[in-house]
Amino acid sequence: MNTIVHPVLLTSVFLLSSATIMNAQNTDDKVRIIMIGAHPDDCDEDGGGTAALFAQMGYAVKFVSVTNGDAGHQTMKGAELAKRRFAEAQEAGKRLGVVYDVLDNHDGLLMPTLEVRLQLIRKIREWNADVVIAPRPNDYHPDHRYTGVLVQDAAYMVAVPNIAPDVPALKKNPVFLYYQDHFQRPNPFRPDITVDITSVYDKKVSALDAHESQMYEWLPWIGHYLDQVPKDKTERVQWLAKQRAGTITNEMRTSLEKWCGKGKATQVKYAEAFEVCEYGAQPNDDEIKRLFPMLGK
Ligand SMILES: [Zn+2]
Repeated sequence: MNTIVHPVLLTSVFLLSSATIMNAQNTDDKVRIIMIGAHPDDCDEDGGGTAALFAQMGYAVKFVSVTNGDAGHQTMKGAELAKRRFAEAQEAGKRLGVVYDVLDNHDGLLMPTLEVRLQLIRKIREWNADVVIAPRPNDYHPDHRYTGVLVQDAAYMVAVPNIAPDVPALKKNPVFLYYQDHFQRPNPFRPDITVDITSVYDKKVSALDAHESQMYEWLPWIGHYLDQVPKDKTERVQWLAKQRAGTITNEMRTSLEKWCGKGKATQVKYAEAFEVCEYGAQPNDDEIKRLFPMLGK
């Protein structure tokens, strides 16, 4: 109900495949992941490589964009833009092997309201999530900031049956994680878990490439580097791969050494890191290895 439903979606197999995965809940002990971002491209940027690794192992991964992205463009806006971004998100989801939900909340206007909190409680419950990943609530963008707050506010409530009783409460509190960011105040990000995504980096870039309106139009425009975007489709993917590579910080390198050993850690070219939130289940190292089987491999 909260998801945008376009005519194209109704006729696609997306709903069918989504329903199939929903029905498969609890039938095996595979880990279920839900990544939550403010905009349709945030999950891909912050966790796309890790999602691709999970999907390759046959794990159920869902991305949720809390807003419909209807403000993120220099010439388009409103329903037309939301529709374009929804289609881009579906394509990105297909390339990564994840289900991509987009909630119909306006971009740039997100507030941490009870209504949106309940939307997220339902999404986390319906997915029967073992792991929930969201932004930290300190960020330059108010939508990112409030997405962080909203997920924190949902962290306990997903297990409380009297809240949103139309969807059964989770019997087990999930582990909540934060995506990596570079903000220093009030405290810097701590990479508790660092995943080597070198083997799937191309897949991550391919998912980002699906968000054409963002990667090649809006972000370069607002960042004043539109003149650097190559016109040729192959060239621009190569450009995107370089632009999105990120850096492996000393703290991430130390975390990689912990999880995959010193020798392997030096060979990692691309990585994504996550911090354990103080709310929700608190995993020890063995539990982290169970949830993230790609660590140490
Ligand atoms: Zn964003």
